[in-house]
Amino acid sequence: MSSAPIAKKNPYQKLIVVALLASVIIIFFSFDLSHYLSFSYLKDNQLQFNDYYQANPLFVSLGFFIIYIVSVTFSVPGATLLTLLGGAIFGFVWGLILISFASSIGATLAFLVSRFLLRDSIQNRFGKHLDRINSGIEKEGAFYLFTLRLVPAFPFFIINLVMGLTPIKTRTFYWVSQLGMLAGTAVFVNAGTQLGQLESASGILSLPLIISFTLLGLFPLIAKKILNILKANQVYKGIKKPDKYDRNLIVIGAGAGGLVTSYIAAAVKAKVTLIEKNKMGGDCLNTGCVPSKALIRSAKFKSHVSRAREFGFQATETQFDFKEIMQRVKRVISKVEPHDSIERYTELGVECLYGEAKILSPFAVEVSGRTLTTKNIVIASGARPFVPSMEGLEKVGYLTSDNLWDLKSLPKRFLVLGGGAIGCELAQSFGRLGSQVIQIERNDRLMKREDPEISDLVHTRFRQDGIDLRLQHQAQRFEIIDGNKTLICSDKEGNTVSIVFDELLIALGRKANVKGFGLENLDIPLSKQGTIEVNEYLQTKYPNIYACGDVAGPYQFTHTAAHQAWYASVNSLFRGFKAFKADYSVIPWATFTDPEVARVGLNELEAKEQNISYEVSQFDIDDLDRAITDEEAHGFIKVLTVPGKDKILGVTIVGEHAGDVIAEYVMAMRHNIGLNKILSTIHIYPTLAEANKYVAGQWKQAHKPEKILQWLEKFHQWRRS
Ligand SMILES: Cc1cc2nc3c(=O)[nH]c(=O)nc-3n(C[C@H](O)[C@H](O)[C@H](O)COP(=O)(O)OP(=O)(O)OC[C@H]3O[C@@H](n4cnc5c(N)ncnc54)[C@H](O)[C@@H]3O)c2cc1C
Repeated sequence: MSSAPIAKKNPYQKLIVVALLASVIIIFFSFDLSHYLSFSYLKDNQLQFNDYYQANPLFVSLGFFIIYIVSVTFSVPGATLLTLLGGAIFGFVWGLILISFASSIGATLAFLVSRFLLRDSIQNRFGKHLDRINSGIEKEGAFYLFTLRLVPAFPFFIINLVMGLTPIKTRTFYWVSQLGMLAGTAVFVNAGTQLGQLESASGILSLPLIISFTLLGLFPLIAKKILNILKANQVYKGIKKPDKYDRNLIVIGAGAGGLVTSYIAAAVKAKVTLIEKNKMGGDCLNTGCVPSKALIRSAKFKSHVSRAREFGFQATETQFDFKEIMQRVKRVISKVEPHDSIERYTELGVECLYGEAKILSPFAVEVSGRTLTTKNIVIASGARPFVPSMEGLEKVGYLTSDNLWDLKSLPKRFLVLGGGAIGCELAQSFGRLGSQVIQIERNDRLMKREDPEISDLVHTRFRQDGIDLRLQHQAQRFEIIDGNKTLICSDKEGNTVSIVFDELLIALGRKANVKGFGLENLDIPLSKQGTIEVNEYLQTKYPNIYACGDVAGPYQFTHTAAHQAWYASVNSLFRGFKAFKADYSVIPWATFTDPEVARVGLNELEAKEQNISYEVSQFDIDDLDRAITDEEAHGFIKVLTVPGKDKILGVTIVGEHAGDVIAEYVMAMRHNIGLNKILSTIHIYPTLAEANKYVAGQWKQAHKPEKILQWLEKFHQWRRS
């Protein structure tokens, strides 16, 4: 973002300002000046102040004005008491004028001091963390500061200091501060005038005082409400609201996000319409989780057969027709289908419409030529495979997770582009079923969001499964050479590599579905990732249009879509009464390769990136009885905890059924349960879940009370003597 040019500073000037600041602080504390800024001092001397003021109104006003400015400039505590005192001495009007100017001038001086001393170094060091404030200023400028000023929940002196670090102009800072703080100052000065009239403790119960303090308490809420209304009015300007709405809620898209949104709406008796243009159940049921897990299961069976000797068989053989494997996949889909069907949802009270929804206005959606009016809209339009524009791609043809399920025969040479979760799950499945899989990844490892040793385990298993893993390979173009489909890519040394294949799967991530249904006309902003920009309540720019699931991000999982759906549904239906911020504090996920990789919370990579201290406890699953009996003795559980405490920061599990085993940690983190409690919980023998207890045991072992144990040793020696 652009920032105002800053004049080069002489280091001595900085030293002088720092010395001045330090002297004021030293004087303030050495002479115990805080004593003069206490409520009891103010009360005890209230009459005297009033007398001074009656005798020398100009002198006292000027003195108060200067003291106020100095205390705000140096951010010394007590501005609130000074404001109350101002009200008590000068009365409402004069008090408000004096304090309004003094606080704005003081705030601007504090802002300038912060800018002068810290802005360059803070922006250099913490620029990333200031991004939110910087982009707030960039987007809404003065209005953003006005919001901060109006809501006293944001500490006054922190705003002065932090704003000094941003590119806002001094002039703007001054006038917005003066205007924004006026209402809050008036409430405090008014409370001060009532304090001035207090004769005894029983005076606290006087009606005007109670009203003043109630106002103080309610002020942040009222200010926030007014701001929200102002903001909302701004975005709806020129848009006609219907006199009456046909529905409480229209939901666009019947994937995990849309289904759960409409389910909740119907459960609380709202009139809700769910619109789907393709298949009920969205990606998860039709082209995502369900078919991929069904295929993984068949492929796993095949891999067990080829490991027959490990299980005590001399030899086994499978004969199969790939078509039948794919028929099984379809059978699985059709078994799950009724859960997401029109019949089920209609029975639940949801009106289900088939067709492409188009948002005409924040209050109207068109489907199949009909215009439906609605109080709220939830967009749950999902995502689709990202396909890059690459030379020759159309010539060779390609599959994505959308159409892979229509394959009729097992590809011989199967090229998978991409080393994320989808690419890995499908590469391994096809490899196990007998395709010669070549997997291309431009990074130096698969699953790059996980810790490196996790990728190593996956690499080893993939290579054992016969996958030709090409890491640090950058795809460049496709050609047909001698009738063969060929990928031309470069390896890490920059050498050109040609790879011949029969079928190509593009698994390079997913793009939110944001085009073609009216978002452009409403100018609804998108994030850098191309998802719909939403606030913590999942509202878009229009407070009555919400988004959830893959189209909103930041996660793209079925369970996160369903999690967000609750917020989108409840927040939209009860807007104005109660709103809940979407809680992303404990989000688990799994990649269903073999070994499975599951995670919740932080891993080491992220903890380091975020400068969070941690301890690691690890249990290797090759030591676990159940894993040994199942011939699946591999992988580990790695738990990150707060140093010296049993509080869990994050867990990664690699191994058989990692996605199930991790559930105990998800629960623990969600409800603040530490490793000590997991250790004291009975786990069934022999299960994979026992590993959770063992890793807690490892942690305990590392934190045993050495001193007490030394004493116990002596105690037992004494008992033997
Ligand atoms: C191969 C694969 C494997 C996966 N495996 C897992 C997994 O194991 N676990 C997991 O948690 N996640 C997995 N996912 C991700 C998961 O499928 C998605 O996160 C989830 O489906 C998102 O749900 P959603 O409701 O946001 O979107 P979707 O399920 O995509 O639903 C959006 C729906 O909106 C409809 N739509 C869009 N625009 C309109 C319009 N204008 N009018 C009407 N309808 C419209 C679409 O037709 C679609 O049906 C996988 C994905 C893939 C591709």
